[in-house]
Amino acid sequence: VDLPPEEAALVARRQAALGPAYRLFYEHPLHLVRGEGVWLHDAQGRKYLDTYNNVASCGHCHPRIVAAMADQAALFASHTRYLHDTVLTLAERLLATMPAALGHMMFTCTGSEANDLALRIARAHTGGTGIIVTENAYHGVTQNVAEFSPSLGAGVPLGAHVRVVPPPDPRRLGPDVGAGFAQAVQTAIADLARHGIRPAALIVDTIFSSDGIFADPPGSLAPAVEAIRAAGGLFIADEVQPGFGRTGAGMWGFARHGVVPDMVSMGKPMGNGYPVAGLAVRPEVVAEFAGHARYFNTFGGNAVAAAVASAVLDVIEEEGLIVNARTTGALFAEGLQSLAKDHAALGELRAAGLFLGLDIVADGAPDAARAARIVNGLRDEGVLISATGPQGHVLKIRPPLTFSPENVAFFLDRMERVLRGLS
Ligand code: PMP
Repeated sequence: VDLPPEEAALVARRQAALGPAYRLFYEHPLHLVRGEGVWLHDAQGRKYLDTYNNVASCGHCHPRIVAAMADQAALFASHTRYLHDTVLTLAERLLATMPAALGHMMFTCTGSEANDLALRIARAHTGGTGIIVTENAYHGVTQNVAEFSPSLGAGVPLGAHVRVVPPPDPRRLGPDVGAGFAQAVQTAIADLARHGIRPAALIVDTIFSSDGIFADPPGSLAPAVEAIRAAGGLFIADEVQPGFGRTGAGMWGFARHGVVPDMVSMGKPMGNGYPVAGLAVRPEVVAEFAGHARYFNTFGGNAVAAAVASAVLDVIEEEGLIVNARTTGALFAEGLQSLAKDHAALGELRAAGLFLGLDIVADGAPDAARAARIVNGLRDEGVLISATGPQGHVLKIRPPLTFSPENVAFFLDRMERVLRGLS
């Protein structure tokens, strides 16, 4: 596509400076300069409703969070090897949102590092090496974690110790999705055993974001968690996507399933844009790791990160964002469902709170090209979303948790315009 000269120059500079490993969103890439609440502003002064970015979960540049960041940066900005209250208060507050069995918090800068640490702890505790993940899971960028992130594609081979299972999709596993998912995990455990590999862990994103978003029914993860534990492995909940209230049913996605994980990794919305992530662990599973290794992460849990993440917790509580995720999410789902009645391109909707996945289909079959046209069409109409799933046909809608009924109405109006423009 022809880009305006200013954007074309940025694209060329980007290619020269950053090299070939990066990807840009959109046929007409966005040049963003400012964010405020649910809105992003581009260099031409146009504004976009952000329904994609689940990092800025409290809204872009929330003044209270920005102030916490600046205040702490002006006071003391160092790591976890000194006594400092802020990181302890944060750890205590996060643990208070979890079942009592999760007794410690460890801090990292990214979700990838949190999952990498979880793997090391699981291996040390179980003596096993096997990892079970869903077919199109994404868990991060380190070598170890990329080896169990099948969504990275054939160019990043899975480790020999990794087995994949289908996501909990009733269309594939049958109506008793909990039993079907547990059976798939059993099969994976048996296959590991046949290769002489003991399982270390089952790790899942509890909303199965990159698999296409599978939220329901609540409780369906419980039998699989039992299965991995019976085989001597641990259950790790990756809450990087559903965590911090997005599902509208409490702080964490795993809680909807009535399970208590051995470890919980978290990141993205934890700092509303500041890099802070972490891992909650059961004290008894971290003992072996701590016995032979010390853990130090220079920037993980630094005083500024801790102040920011505490401010995020304040905002979630004081602005009632979990309730808003539930109520506005329900309104959003209803609106999309009623739009689907008039537009054959819209297939199944799967949602929990303000995490919505909508299949784009042609004659009932996945249609990634059409999904891409909708994503690009919405961008031109001033709304940002994305597509996900192994076939790329699931619209992924994850606005800030401050999203209002007016924002929902705006989205639906623009969506309808784009759908009418599809031939
Ligand atoms: N787990 C999940 C489920 C994710 O979606 C991501 C990031 N997309 C990660 C882990 C990795 O987090 P980060 O990019 O902060 O390393």
